[in-house]
Amino acid sequence: MLDHWLDFYRLQKYRRSKIRRRPTYRERVTACSACGYPASHRHHLWDVAMHGENRVTIQLCANCHELHHLMYNALVRDSEYSRKLVLHVLFSDKVARETAEKILGWCLATIRYEANNGWIEQGRDAAAWVEAQLHWSAFQQRAERG
Ligand SMILES: [Zn+2]
Ligand SMILES: [Zn+2]
Repeated sequence: MLDHWLDFYRLQKYRRSKIRRRPTYRERVTACSACGYPASHRHHLWDVAMHGENRVTIQLCANCHELHHLMYNALVRDSEYSRKLVLHVLFSDKVARETAEKILGWCLATIRYEANNGWIEQGRDAAAWVEAQLHWSAFQQRAERG
């Protein structure tokens, strides 16, 4: 009986830790770390579903946040839908090269961390893979020309 209740409380605690806390006003008015837009969301570099609420976050505006998730899904989850959206955004000439490079950098750091822990397969952060999926050097050259 006691064990039953201990398990019950453990489960409650576990569940609670998966709940995202509401972002504070201060966080919301923090500029986007990628593009500088004056309002942002917290993006968890360590996934909340896996790690619970944690402080390993970066502040991204809605657009950069979405691009980050789309890049991740294109590189890790083989989502063709996400990949096409990333290419559409990158080749729209609306995203600065430095902005996209920062977002990809965080994305690759997350992928490396997850791969090193054995949660996803290795190689999803490889330059050749990024090139094949996101046409990265073509984007950089295009952004260079302005
Ligand atoms: Zn942004
Ligand atoms: Zn996020």
